[in-house]
Amino acid sequence: VPRSLKRIDSPKFQGFGCSGCSWKFEPSGVRFDDSIDEMKRTYEAERDKQFAVHVCAEHPKDSNTA
Ligand SMILES: [Zn+2]
Repeated sequence: VPRSLKRIDSPKFQGFGCSGCSWKFEPSGVRFDDSIDEMKRTYEAERDKQFAVHVCAEHPKDSNTA
């Protein structure tokens, strides 16, 4: 099953996650003194990098937290 980034909008989490497992992107590299454009680029680059390296098998879907 090909995995893809999906937008998550739930009361508990707003952001991006994996369509194939329970992985969610938790941004860590965003600095708030950056400009909005710079923040967005940093966010997207980190998101895409973390998505690329995560292993779906390590984040099994949990119906309770989906
Ligand atoms: Zn995954």
